[in-house]
Amino acid sequence: MKIGVYVCHCGVNISNTVDVQKVISEVSALPTVAVCRDYQYMCSDPGQEMIAKDIRELGLDRVVVAACSPRMHEPTFRGAVEAAGMNPYCFEMANIREQCSWVHEDKEQATRKAADLVKSSVARAALLEPLNSTEVPVTHAALVIGGGIAGIQTALDIANSGYPVYLVEKDPSIGGHMAQFDKTFPTLDCAACILTPKMVDVARHPNIELLTYSEVESIEGSVGNFHVRIRKKPRYVNVSLCTGCGSCATACRLVGRIPSEFDMGLGKRGAIYVPFPQAVPLRYTIDPEKCLMLKHGKCGTSPKCVDACDRDAIDFSMTEEILEVDVGAIVVATGYKEFDPTIKREYKYGTFKNVMTGLELERIFAPSGPTGGKALINGKVPKKIVFVSCVGSRDKRIGNPYCSRVCCMYIAKQAHLLKEKIPDADITVMYTDMRAFGKGYEEFYERVQKEGIKYRRGNAAEVYEEDGVLHVRAEDTLMGEPYELEADLVVLGTGLEPSDAADAIGHMLHLSRSADKFFLEAHPKLRPVDTVIDGVFLAGAAQGPKDIPDTVAQASGAASHVVNLLSKDVILAEPIVAEVNTDVCAGCRICEILCPYDAHAFDEERNVMTINKAICKGCGSCAAACPSGAIAMNHFRDSQIVAQILEVI
Ligand SMILES: Cc1cc2nc3c(=O)[nH]c(=O)nc-3n(C[C@H](O)[C@H](O)[C@H](O)COP(=O)(O)OP(=O)(O)OC[C@H]3O[C@@H](n4cnc5c(N)ncnc54)[C@H](O)[C@@H]3O)c2cc1C
Repeated sequence: MKIGVYVCHCGVNISNTVDVQKVISEVSALPTVAVCRDYQYMCSDPGQEMIAKDIRELGLDRVVVAACSPRMHEPTFRGAVEAAGMNPYCFEMANIREQCSWVHEDKEQATRKAADLVKSSVARAALLEPLNSTEVPVTHAALVIGGGIAGIQTALDIANSGYPVYLVEKDPSIGGHMAQFDKTFPTLDCAACILTPKMVDVARHPNIELLTYSEVESIEGSVGNFHVRIRKKPRYVNVSLCTGCGSCATACRLVGRIPSEFDMGLGKRGAIYVPFPQAVPLRYTIDPEKCLMLKHGKCGTSPKCVDACDRDAIDFSMTEEILEVDVGAIVVATGYKEFDPTIKREYKYGTFKNVMTGLELERIFAPSGPTGGKALINGKVPKKIVFVSCVGSRDKRIGNPYCSRVCCMYIAKQAHLLKEKIPDADITVMYTDMRAFGKGYEEFYERVQKEGIKYRRGNAAEVYEEDGVLHVRAEDTLMGEPYELEADLVVLGTGLEPSDAADAIGHMLHLSRSADKFFLEAHPKLRPVDTVIDGVFLAGAAQGPKDIPDTVAQASGAASHVVNLLSKDVILAEPIVAEVNTDVCAGCRICEILCPYDAHAFDEERNVMTINKAICKGCGSCAAACPSGAIAMNHFRDSQIVAQILEVI
């Protein structure tokens, strides 16, 4: 056994607190250690070359690097030792940065701890076994879940690279929240002008199968080979016959009587509808919860939509369909939902009609919206307008301590649009802190102030009504004094929360959530579009609140990772997985219950458990729980862990 040990200074991150030379002298004395060296940045090219040279010239068969967290650089060093001819699973990492130098101040004690950590890694390394990855074939197609701007951009990028894409959207049209806006900050681009051409491209793309009004029912398999069942909800309209002419919607007995979800309940639709005039696909859908025919089996003497449709496209006998597809990679782009401000009772949202949310005001601005784009709130032009920022964001009391990142800027946009439509309006923004972080954002914020929008620091405490006039009570936190403003309109700068519809997807794919409940990326800095599940990627606001530029950038990033994966015929599956010794397994099935990835399958005939190595993520839950000791974890065998522990006790 010849073990090489390499201690990194990490600039001064480690060496300021740990006496590296002392660690080297202690570790060099171990009988299994053939060489022990230090370097300022072990992850750099010269650092990696130092290790490779020793493997080649000294014939090392195990390598230990004492540096940062393995989450950061284990793949880097595994690649380096493999390139030099050593099995990458004979590499071990001791974390003397996060677990030592960053958390201690006393140099002597930190040095002793660092030496112990390195010695325990050496003990484990001596027992490591070479492992080999297995080849898994790749299905050359992708699934994108969610048809907002994130899903649209991802699907187009993958499809333009030549791979088939299934784009699944739960609603009758793609477009997501961006389709609800009139203009976008900071450039005030017409949202429809930049979004709808992309929506049309999606519908026409030969490589994209667009599945709207559909939901993912189940996902099985693993990277390279996912089997997906998709439920297509019945539209009760034959989309190949429907031309989107709208005669049915005009004829519907309930036209103008059902609150439109797309218009945030401010506009009305009928039981047969398209969410908005630029919907893709422009095909009608019957709402089964509202349609008299579907609910009661009767609509007057005969359903008017049927009479009005000269293409005979209405079909009340439609049922849901299940579509089964195979894909190699999945992108989750399920977006966000607006914070529900009824939780913040002090703002009286839902009580006073003139208290509205950011998304509701977006629909007021839209030419296709409930007021045809006129700044009319409940039929009147508001003259005194108050915006309240951070409603549902940066608020620990309601469990949302995070910043929603778009509210400061959409408030600035909306204040500008209101001033444009009502030049004599008196507009005040009650802000917590102004966060204008993006390109051109600070300049836009300055512009709206010059236009006469007043910014006053302080959170609103309460909205109340007196003599038919709304009042907003707040504290000016700069002046340290309370103040009140009258308002014809109060706009709540509502924050972003993860979409409810993403819950089921998260469970199916075993995705983790971060503290803010959005989907967790594999690494916040280095792997922002990956998840810990191989072959599953994130795009857009599903991963965290973000604006459209960041959403589009992340979507293209996710697409490039998918294309990278799909361009291979086979991929290598990680060999650090659990293994069952079927001679010992008692068939108790405890491991099956505990496995978070559904990697276990019970063999009824033999009364033993089996593990699908392609699905297993090597978390070790099953091995730890197995009462008969029948399950062992490759690379984390009991003997290896015990040797490691014995060295530090
Ligand atoms: C009031 C307001 C104004 C804004 N104005 C601007 C602006 O001017 N400029 C700017 O840059 N940003 C703005 N934003 C931010 C912008 O809305 C987001 O950046 C953008 O919408 C994120 O896109 P997305 O595709 O990730 O999510 P979404 O737009 O939320 O789209 C997600 C899509 O996924 C679908 N979906 C969800 N779950 C499922 C499921 N399980 N199966 C299938 N489909 C599913 C949804 O139906 C939806 O179509 C604003 C936000 C708000 C609240």
